[in-house]
This record gives sequence, structure tokens and C-alpha cells, in this order.
Amino acid sequence: MAPRRHPPVSAPKACVRAGPRGGCARGRGSHYHRTVSDPDTASAWPAADEAVDPAILARARALPKVLLHEHLDGGLREATLLELLRARGLPAPAPDAAGLAAWFDARAHAGSLEEYLRGFGLTVAAMASPVALERVAFEAAEDAREDGCVLAEFRIAPLLFEPHGVDADEAVAAMLQGLARSPLPSGLIVCAMRQEDDARITRAAELALRWLGRGVIAFDLAGPEAGWPATRHARLLERLREAGMPLTLHAGEADAAHRVLEAVQLGARRIGHGVRLADLLGTPAAGPALQALREAGVHLEVCPTSNVHTGAARSVASHPIRALWEAGVSLSFHTDNRLMSRLTHSLEAARLVTQAGFSWEDLRCMGEQAASASFLEPAHRERARRALQAGAASAGLH
Ligand SMILES: [Zn+2]
Repeated sequence: MAPRRHPPVSAPKACVRAGPRGGCARGRGSHYHRTVSDPDTASAWPAADEAVDPAILARARALPKVLLHEHLDGGLREATLLELLRARGLPAPAPDAAGLAAWFDARAHAGSLEEYLRGFGLTVAAMASPVALERVAFEAAEDAREDGCVLAEFRIAPLLFEPHGVDADEAVAAMLQGLARSPLPSGLIVCAMRQEDDARITRAAELALRWLGRGVIAFDLAGPEAGWPATRHARLLERLREAGMPLTLHAGEADAAHRVLEAVQLGARRIGHGVRLADLLGTPAAGPALQALREAGVHLEVCPTSNVHTGAARSVASHPIRALWEAGVSLSFHTDNRLMSRLTHSLEAARLVTQAGFSWEDLRCMGEQAASASFLEPAHRERARRALQAGAASAGLH
């Protein structure tokens, strides 16, 4: 396949980045180290019954948002999951949607990645038919649209459905049909699970290539990070890049900061999470690392609540997103797994404002950077940027 050229990812001119209270706080990295290491700081997990000011939540819903990082098998509606489990004759951990929500809530707050991941066994088994995959994709797009999203990218590892008898191409076709049924501009990122053998990872990459330009917009390596470095697949990723496949790689979530820089060297235009990069701030390695990201035009898809639930951060209040933003890193905030984390994009926005001290203008800036970094076509990205600017104007931010 002939190489394709993509415009470089860059921050839009309209978004002038400044640190809190106006001063650009480039390189001020001590915030993260101070808050995380201080035992008096921050509750561990966001409370399950956390009360959010309805006015803040309403404003967060009205804020036009760009969603770049959400797993389709982590974002089902509880009622849909229950119906799908029943239809397949599979046991559900609770008899109703509220009970199921409480079950996921307990997993999210167990403080264990293993417990958090248990939910995926349930969702993948429930979704394993073309009809169910189509429905879940459609509902995800509609949920995002109703939550104020103006552009969305969803991701999943289609090979996960093969052991359940669903061909991976058939799975991709069904999910793309579901996404296309919603008026929300969206695309699908094909993930490979990094703990799987090379042959299956190669098959996932070939699947992504077959569908590139027909609704599939990028390739990602997901799954357990520690012990499964992306560098193992350097040649495959190079092949994908040469074929014009945009890359986003999970990195710097459960493993160290240098994995983020490795992902940049491997050609990733975006990084899923990347939060361990904050460990370098305030050290001599920070300058070259930030410069490498800037030169490559790399954008971080940060998922604060998910990081708290998997143990990658202690709290939203002390999350490294603050230090990375102050250091001038291009980034935005995302849900990762709405069902597992009992989350919406608006709730994440409200938490960043009320717990992490971000302004609405900061969030709009992040949205513009996310729109610029999206893998969707330029016309969709431009429309999303215009929606963000119109939203800011009506909210009195201009
Ligand atoms: Zn993820």
C-alpha cells in the first residue's frame, strides 16, 4: 500500500496556553511529586457516591467535547449489558441495572487492576455477536453525543471476539455500522492486546490495514503494559506507518516515563495516558523529553479517573495531568472505560474543574488540542474546533 501523508498534529493558534493564573509554568514539575508523596494529601479513590454540584455538571455537559480515548468494551450501558447477558444465557453478577452498576463500582474502587479488569470478561462475552457489537457501538456514539461530544474516536481489540465465534472482520463491520447510524462524527481504532503472541498482534495490524479509510482510523497497542514493551513490535509498527496507518500507543500508564519516549520514537502521534512522563518533570531529563514530544507533535490522551481506579494515580486532585499541562504538554482528558469507572466525559470535566483546579478555558483549550490531534478527516476536525469556539463564545469565555 502506498504511503499516505497526514498533516502534522499541532496546537491550534486560537488556543493560547498558559499556566494557572496566567503565568506559563513550563518545567514546574514538583507539583506531582509533592502531592503524590505527601501522605496527608488526597483521598485515595473518588467516592462512589461523590456529590457533584448540578450546576457544574450542567456546564460540563454544555461544554463541547472531543473524545479520543474510550474502549467500546468498557463503555456499555448497564441495561444493555444485562439484556445481552440474558440473551446469551450468561450469568450476570447482579439482577438489575442498579445492582450491576454497584458491582462495577466495587471493582473500580477495589484498588486492584485485576479486579478492575474482571469486568471486561463479562462485556466481551456479552458483546460477542454482530448484532450486539452494532448496538453497543451505536449506543456509545449516541451517549457521547448526548453528553456534549462533537467528535469521537472509539477503540477495541476485534480479535477478542474470535474465541466466541465472531470473525474479526465481521466484528469491525458491525461496529462501524453502529457508529455510522449515529450522526456524531466518529471513527474506530483497532487495538492489539500486547500480551498476545506476535502472530495475533500481526493479524490485528493487518485487520486494521484492511479497514483503514473505511471507518478504521488508527492502530493501538493496549492491554498490560509492564513486561510487554511496544519496542517488541518495532518492525510491525514501522510497516504500519509506511502503509499510512496513524498510531496511538498506550504508554506510561503502568510502566515508566521512558516508555512514553519509546512510543514517540516508534512513531506514535498520540499516547494513551502517558502520565508517568510527569515523573521526569523537575529533573534534567524533562527538557529533552518535552522537546521530543513537541518536535514529534505528540498529544497525550489522559484518563484521570481511570488512572485512579487502576492505581496509576492517587486521586484526580493530585493527578499528573495538572503538572503536564503546566509544563506545556499537548493533552486532553478522556473516559477510557465509562462502565468500569462509572464515568461520563462531563463528569470527568467537572472533576477536573472542582478537584484539579482547571478552568473552563483550560478544558476548551484541551478540546481544541484534541480536535487537532484527532485521526478523523480534516473537515470533521475543523467542525469540532468551530463547535468548541462557538461553545466558548456562548459561555462568555471569549
Ligand atoms: Zn485505554
